[in-house]
Amino acid sequence: MDEIKTQLAIIGGGPGGYVAAIRAAQLGIKVVIIEKYKLGGICLNVGCIPTKALITVSRDLEKIKSLEAIGIKAKIESVSWNSIQEWKNSIVEKLVAGVSQVCKGNGAEVLYGEAEIINSNEIMVKQQDKVIKVNSEKMIIATGSYPVELKELPYDHAFIWNSTDALNCQTLPKSMIVVGGGYIGLELSMAFARFGMRVSVVEMMPQLLPGFDIDIVRLIDRRLRKLSINAKVNSVIKSIELKAESILAIVDTKGKEEQIETEKILVAVGRKPLTGGFGLNTINVALNNKGFIIVDNKLRTNLQNIYAIGDVAGMPMLAHKAFKEGEIVAEVIAGKSAEVDYKCVPAVVFTDPEIATAGITELEAHEKKLDVIIGKFPFAASARAMVLQETDGFVKVIADKASHEVLGVTIVGPEATDLISEAALAIEMGAAIEDIALTIHPHPTLGEVLMEAAKVAMGEPVHILKPK
Ligand code: FAD
Repeated sequence: MDEIKTQLAIIGGGPGGYVAAIRAAQLGIKVVIIEKYKLGGICLNVGCIPTKALITVSRDLEKIKSLEAIGIKAKIESVSWNSIQEWKNSIVEKLVAGVSQVCKGNGAEVLYGEAEIINSNEIMVKQQDKVIKVNSEKMIIATGSYPVELKELPYDHAFIWNSTDALNCQTLPKSMIVVGGGYIGLELSMAFARFGMRVSVVEMMPQLLPGFDIDIVRLIDRRLRKLSINAKVNSVIKSIELKAESILAIVDTKGKEEQIETEKILVAVGRKPLTGGFGLNTINVALNNKGFIIVDNKLRTNLQNIYAIGDVAGMPMLAHKAFKEGEIVAEVIAGKSAEVDYKCVPAVVFTDPEIATAGITELEAHEKKLDVIIGKFPFAASARAMVLQETDGFVKVIADKASHEVLGVTIVGPEATDLISEAALAIEMGAAIEDIALTIHPHPTLGEVLMEAAKVAMGEPVHILKPK
């Protein structure tokens, strides 16, 4: 049997694992990264990137149609789903190749195969035709997560889909029920509806996007209706009947039943940390009651030479949280003084309008009974948003009442997912609302709306009247 001796072995080549490998190699650590599928993990192959590719094309389609309102009438001759899939896959392939190049270029060894932990220093890597033993001083678990399966709606990948099935479908179904009104469910619902699909959303909780401020949810709800998406809260699928080409679903909304006939059901009810099936239990790494590996602020598990990062190591399950943990863990292992700080992990949702938050939300401020001031400025008063014909939404700045320190920013509106980075920097640097308000922002841009919201929080709005 082939054997590799190394200082660091990383199981999983997703955003957490590959960043840890690159950074560790840069810091002079001999590192082997083991991946059973493709580098880039869920995010690059079947998550962030393919979803955003499809969302972008679907928006372009809608944009062409919307131009009619300002006098440009265009006819869409045809939409080739095959070509869109090929284009989406080509982006993924380029990015995966790029990750591979950067890993190798930095000196990280990439080993393809399925890892199984034998003990806290040994991993067996099963490849198609052989098994390689990796002997390592330290190990990082970066195995990510997998989609939650509902007992009553098990994935058959033909009628009942997970997000990967939906992203890679060869033909576009005419109708779909999306179970789960969280961010993945709503992003895909809106994208598919724009491609002409009849979409229903079934959410168990009393509101879509559970946990988000209600003023955001109202805006999203309005847009869902505009896209003719039948979104139902307080609802569950009670039963299904499989027919030759479709499914008859009985949807129960607080005791009231409705029959919906659909071609597919997409289940998007969350993800679970992947801790089973690769020998983790043999070394007794401690898990919490939600199944995540318990780590401290240096990403160390209960075993002194084992670390964990990314989705498998706790919420939020986001690629940029995994990236950051990948960097930190490599520095910790290299003996640097580094630790994680989750004061400001932005969250972005590519619905229409887009949603982005950094720091605390208004809901959290109320729940924690913080003494805050809030400034809110609507995109409807932004010249740039008007020109873009995207005036739905607002920027909300939440600051400590006494010190004026910015504690959180919520943006709902055009390019919210890009605009949030300025807010994240402000929160990270401990900026006050005055720092944002007194910074000259170029005109006419969407970025001005953050500055205007900070002015509202100061009680000195310029481009809207002072709220009563
Ligand atoms: P993963 O990306 O899950 O990577 C883990 C890797 O480990 C995989 O490549 C897997 O093959 C490998 N692996 C597992 N077990 C073994 C083994 N035994 N041997 C060898 N290899 C193994 N996040 C965002 O921040 N923004 C978004 O817009 C966004 N959109 C998303 C859309 C969808 C549809 C989904 C499903 C997720 C989305 N996410 C998004 C979440 C994001 O994809 C994850 O948070 C991120 O991929 C986590 O990175 P990770 O490195 O922890 O794990």
